[in-house]
Amino acid sequence: FDSLESLDPEVHAAVRAELARQQDTLEMIASENFAPVAVLEAQGSVLTNKYAEGYPGRRYYGGCEHVDVTEQLAIDRAKSLFGAESANVQPHSGAQANTAVYFALLEHGDTILGLDLAHGGHLTHGMRLNYSGKTLNVVPYHVSPADGRVDMEEVAKLAREHRPKMIVAGWSAYPRQLDFARFREIADEVGALLFVDMAHFAGLVAAGLHPSPVPYADIVTTTTHKTLGGPRGGLILAKEEFGKKINSAVFPGLQGGPLEHVIAAKAVALKVAASEEFKDRQKRTLEGARIIAERLLAEDSAKAGVKVLTGGTDVHLVLVDLVDSELTGRDAEDRLHEVGITVNRNAVPNDPRPPMVTSGLRIGTPALATRGFGAEDFAEVADILALALQPEFDAASLKGRVTALARKHPLYPGL
Ligand code: PLP
Repeated sequence: FDSLESLDPEVHAAVRAELARQQDTLEMIASENFAPVAVLEAQGSVLTNKYAEGYPGRRYYGGCEHVDVTEQLAIDRAKSLFGAESANVQPHSGAQANTAVYFALLEHGDTILGLDLAHGGHLTHGMRLNYSGKTLNVVPYHVSPADGRVDMEEVAKLAREHRPKMIVAGWSAYPRQLDFARFREIADEVGALLFVDMAHFAGLVAAGLHPSPVPYADIVTTTTHKTLGGPRGGLILAKEEFGKKINSAVFPGLQGGPLEHVIAAKAVALKVAASEEFKDRQKRTLEGARIIAERLLAEDSAKAGVKVLTGGTDVHLVLVDLVDSELTGRDAEDRLHEVGITVNRNAVPNDPRPPMVTSGLRIGTPALATRGFGAEDFAEVADILALALQPEFDAASLKGRVTALARKHPLYPGL
């Protein structure tokens, strides 16, 4: 068997170029992270060759004795890390995990409540073109115009009015913690299931730095690659009574052979997530986001029309509101790209600009915290961000500062 370099120089070159991009720039996409080398190793292992339809100890293929070990480790670690009664580690992605939840517990046409995509929800929480939106009757709830926070009065009102079978709580772009106890109360009042998608903040929950939805929700899903810092993939935690239905919805309901190499990598990531190092990293993640929000609330930013949604953050991301700025979300994303910082533009609630342009930015700190950034580094990043969002900016000087930070915290030095 030839190496990648000799067998396929084109793919090899692109992979090397991507490594260099990750090393030389500052990754601030809130849903991204850097998986540890041990995770990459497990994911790039011979486990990719193995068919293992079924679950540990109950497979439809022979030769599963070793992947049974890794999958069981992943299940046990997920349950122990989050205090869950049952876990399914097979979903190929967060979207697959969420679809499996609907498939397991709902019928076509059932009503769900979910946070509107334009207010920070995810596609799989009922967006019109997503499977959820096409097959379910979706009633969206919103953030309040007054403070930008999820309007729990509206959630309660809509729940009483529409009697949903399920309430979905969770977000992709929201800088605050959700009130899981209140969601539970509302769900109980109307006899709905409560499903929490903690894809974004699972790492914070694992570190004990964010309230856990697990005691409140019937089902909790997450991706394993965001704040959790593992391989790309999904994970479903459920109360014991729903475990069997979830397993059957994932396989054979939606998927065939599980990605055992990815599942082994999930096991490794879940081990890491139980460590002190991980907790320290999540603390720096939160601290970094707070430092950035504070810097972007300073006078020079306010004068340039730069605002911070909800006036700050409790999590790993900051949402920048550019409605009053001459820069659009796209301009701002392009500018930051030019100086070597990768972020994504993001619509703000009631965004006056079109979805491909937007009036916002989503800026996240997990990847930089994984790289070793501490308070001092985040203060420097925050200053670069604030200066780049001024009407006039000096791209060359900011790029120099970005490069210095990247050099200070080498990424994947041995790769
Ligand atoms: N759920 C939430 C809240 C997300 O933010 C995302 C991804 O952005 C997903 C689910 C979907 O995850 P994936 O991209 O792995 O399908």
